[in-house]
Amino acid sequence: AKNAGRNRYAFFNQEMQAASTRSLMLSNALHDALLQNEFSLHFQPQVSLSTTEVIGAEALIRWHSKSLGHVSPGEFIPLAEESGQILSIGEWVLRETVRQIRTWLNNDIKPVRIAVNLSYAQFQTNDLPILIADILKEFNVSSEYLELELTERTAAIDPEHTVATLESLQQIGTHTSMDDFGTGYSSLSYLQRFPIYKLKIDQSFVRNMANNYNDRIIVGTIILLAQQLGMRTIAEGVETEEQLDLLKTIGCDDAQGYYISRPIPAERFELEFLTKH
Ligand code: C2E
Ligand code: CA
Ligand code: CA
Ligand code: CA
Repeated sequence: AKNAGRNRYAFFNQEMQAASTRSLMLSNALHDALLQNEFSLHFQPQVSLSTTEVIGAEALIRWHSKSLGHVSPGEFIPLAEESGQILSIGEWVLRETVRQIRTWLNNDIKPVRIAVNLSYAQFQTNDLPILIADILKEFNVSSEYLELELTERTAAIDPEHTVATLESLQQIGTHTSMDDFGTGYSSLSYLQRFPIYKLKIDQSFVRNMANNYNDRIIVGTIILLAQQLGMRTIAEGVETEEQLDLLKTIGCDDAQGYYISRPIPAERFELEFLTKH
């Protein structure tokens, strides 16, 4: 029994070491990723449940590292947040999104509103609204084409700051949505003070909605709450027709998920989901 315990300990150590070697390699590779032009954006369409029209898309970062191959954002975004690199990566995502919208406009393609994810560190900087206004000006793109996603968790850390920043963004004219909604933290008294355009129902509730009564109740409650607060709702992670129908029945406004489309490169998104003027 003693030996087994020791082996287990040794195994645990090896695993820990492998994990930290991996994150060390990732951190090093991440350091050069911007300069080496290794990032790209994918776009995942969002549709209106009442009209089935494409009303927007979410921009999601992709990293193809020359040394490590494809690395998922779920793995490298937390590392970039720890190291502070998320600020320059986040600025790249904003600029690249607005540049893409400008390209569509130049080619007579009607863009849709594109939602960009913001990390807490970005949201916390005082000049975020100025940065966003500058980038829109740089490419002469209207703020109506840009939406900013912050997670419920980010919004809850410093609610006073959140209210002030959201008000500045509202003045610029960009839309805002609260990502991963329902996973915790936001007090209702603050939620009603947040000038938020849309609540994004977390995919964990959507996933089990068709066969789990509790999750269906949660989704329904979020939709009622949003309606009371004058906000739109979008469900993310919609993978089946059954989920789509159910969401429509209970009054959800919009949907996003693999059932409609996976996140895809700009050229494909343009071909499949945008229209020429
Ligand atoms: P998120 O913002 O909650 O994004 C939704 C994630 O769910 C994306 O994963 C998307 O590909 C995935 N997804 C969409 N539809 C479905 C579906 O029907 N089923 C399932 N199982 N998954 C679906 P992805 O692209 O791997 O991104 C993971 C997370 O990384 C994002 O979660 C976000 O937190 C972060 N992230 C991605 N891009 C950026 C970025 O540009 N900036 C920042 N700060 N974070 C980003
Ligand atoms: Ca998101
Ligand atoms: Ca989400
Ligand atoms: Ca998430």
